[in-house]
Amino acid sequence: MEPEAKRRVLCEHAYAMKKHHATRLHYDLRLEWNGVLLSWALPEGPSCCAGTIRKAIEMEDHSRANLLFEGVHETGPIMLWDRGTWEPQLESDDIRSALSRGVLRFTLRGEKLKGGWTLTRINSTGNAPRPIWTLCKQADSFAKSRADKCVLEERPNSVSTGKTMREIVRDWTSPKDRHERQTRLFDKT
Ligand code: MN
Repeated sequence: MEPEAKRRVLCEHAYAMKKHHATRLHYDLRLEWNGVLLSWALPEGPSCCAGTIRKAIEMEDHSRANLLFEGVHETGPIMLWDRGTWEPQLESDDIRSALSRGVLRFTLRGEKLKGGWTLTRINSTGNAPRPIWTLCKQADSFAKSRADKCVLEERPNSVSTGKTMREIVRDWTSPKDRHERQTRLFDKT
């Protein structure tokens, strides 16, 4: 195996981007690492334009079991908007130290979001309820120009089911969906 391919296999972790209609619509970035999902809330979602900075609020780690969840949570409907894998870039190889330094450079291999991204912490934990980071697309072949249509508008629906948020809400209470959920739960036991 090529060294780059080998490294990718060793470093690859699960990734998901949720679309969450809580009090207000936002996106949730989930990066699997060390048995949990590192989590950031993106009030405006990600931008695929290199250099366009988007706010990313650090949230508590989430359980890995929730990675691919889509449905109606007590906080509002949640759509699995994108999924795939991520890996730290070479300079962020030591993820723990990258997180404590506050600069995580990583590559996404999602179905919608791809290529290099940078998370940068812009405040310390002392003066805000939660650490604030920025998420920025790196300039690479996957970066879009400002003239391109935004991926959030171009591909707004679920990556797993193709459903809109409205359809997720509608189907959550339908007998068919409920039956499927119960069957899945039953299969697990
Ligand atoms: Mn959320």
